[in-house]
Amino acid sequence: MFVYRIYIMSYFKKIILIFIKNPLNIFLYRRRFLRIETFGESMEPNFFPGEFYLVKRNFNPNLFERFDIVVMHCEKHNSIHLKRIVGMVNEKICYRKGILYINEKKFLEKNVIHNKQINVSIILGEDECFVMSDNRENYNFNCDSINTGPIKIEHVIGKVIT
Ligand SMILES: [Zn+2]
Repeated sequence: MFVYRIYIMSYFKKIILIFIKNPLNIFLYRRRFLRIETFGESMEPNFFPGEFYLVKRNFNPNLFERFDIVVMHCEKHNSIHLKRIVGMVNEKICYRKGILYINEKKFLEKNVIHNKQINVSIILGEDECFVMSDNRENYNFNCDSINTGPIKIEHVIGKVIT
């Protein structure tokens, strides 16, 4: 009888755990992570259309690191885009003849498709960052800071983790 009672209790405990713990986990999971599918060619040769990635939401903009692959909210399309965060707040960003300069210092970007026709120079504000596409060949079609200027750091939603 004693053993039976323990069994019943542990059974109820399990049921309670399933109903309490799991919805909580699902809730946390949905808030902290996003599963995204890539569209378009703007991030080639590193990301191709139709691939799935897990994005960790970031509620603290200071945790982003340069060259992170991030998901940003685009007001123009009311959508999200995958981009590379290149410039951080208050930095001076130049991209000319296929070379990136941050605060006048040259940065070597490997594994991106450069475009020597782009000539951009900008100083970022206190709440702004600079995002770029890896594929800059048809840069007119890209929804990034080369075309539309700096973006608000609060519009960067999270970074790709896998
Ligand atoms: Zn857009």
